[in-house]
Amino acid sequence: MSHTVEKIALKSPAPGTERFLTIHRFGTIGARPKVYLQAALHADEWPGLMALNHLIPMLDHADKAGRIVGEIILLPYANPIGLDQRLGGAMPGRYSFDGAGNFNRNWPDLSAAAAAHIPQGFTGDTGQDIATLRAALLQAVADLSTRTEIDHWRAQLLGLSIDADYVIDVHCDQESQAHLYCHISHTDIAKRMAAAGDIPIVLLEEEAGGFSFDDCNAGVWRRMAGLVDKADTLPMACYGCTLELRGKDDVNDVYGQKDAAGLMRFMIAERVIQGDTSNLEGPEPYRLDEVDVIYAETGGLIAYKAEIGEYVQEGQLIAEVIDITASDPLTARTQLVSRTAGLFFARIDLRLISAGEGVAKVAGRKPLEHRKKGALLEA
Ligand SMILES: [Zn+2]
Repeated sequence: MSHTVEKIALKSPAPGTERFLTIHRFGTIGARPKVYLQAALHADEWPGLMALNHLIPMLDHADKAGRIVGEIILLPYANPIGLDQRLGGAMPGRYSFDGAGNFNRNWPDLSAAAAAHIPQGFTGDTGQDIATLRAALLQAVADLSTRTEIDHWRAQLLGLSIDADYVIDVHCDQESQAHLYCHISHTDIAKRMAAAGDIPIVLLEEEAGGFSFDDCNAGVWRRMAGLVDKADTLPMACYGCTLELRGKDDVNDVYGQKDAAGLMRFMIAERVIQGDTSNLEGPEPYRLDEVDVIYAETGGLIAYKAEIGEYVQEGQLIAEVIDITASDPLTARTQLVSRTAGLFFARIDLRLISAGEGVAKVAGRKPLEHRKKGALLEA
């Protein structure tokens, strides 16, 4: 099949307004492995828009050469609702203006709805059971409410992604090195992806919490346990990851080209696209409870004392928060230190912070008591 482009209209939210998704398809419909990629679910995170923009012609070229073995669905922008959110010159694209919350949280748990479509139970034949669950998941998505524009939008994305072998959700942090999150059961795939894309940090979740898009797609496979007979024999047949392509301002052709080439290498390694890859050995992953998230107790001006990409020691000064209401600036500083030795890989981009805000992330090698299980690194 050659490269096709389709536009899907979203439910009109108001008279005279209608948004649409653009869907690029490569390879053969129904062929495996199936890959689903999308960018800027958080609509203010644009490095993925650039990366996928560079990836489209690479995939087109591979498709014309007959090298695409499976099926690839690519959404160059995932969230036209968020892309339209501007306020006083700023673009707050993380939370929906209509009160529906964080665009990458509270995606549905489809396990019970899918189970209802499998009354006969699984057979224990892995290939057959995977196909059965994928069909049931598509039915569960078709049954989702489409009452509002956001409901309709969520159902459209899931209708394209839920039966994929790979779901790659491209985000970014604020100021950051590239990193990716995935479930611990997919450590090997994540390491190959990191090696292919030159991504220094892999973060492994057991129960991430929050129902992000990647977890909605991948996590449903393990949530079937107990709901359908013999579900405990199911593999985690969908690799879902959140790929954080550095910081918000890291949008340029050099990174876009590099990241697209990395995604191509990864898809070749996974036999989605024909081609040669050398052995991909990624970095040693970190678990989420090994990542120190440093919070500021008080609001104020922040002065960082360490740089992104720096290895820091436990107890090392990361930043000072300055109380600008103090009478004496010389006694107005509160020190924020790392509680682990490791890689200082992300920080916020604003320099005036609110009380309680997480301002820095350091990935270390020891489990940290204060890190809650099931809590993502950001709200
Ligand atoms: Zn994001």
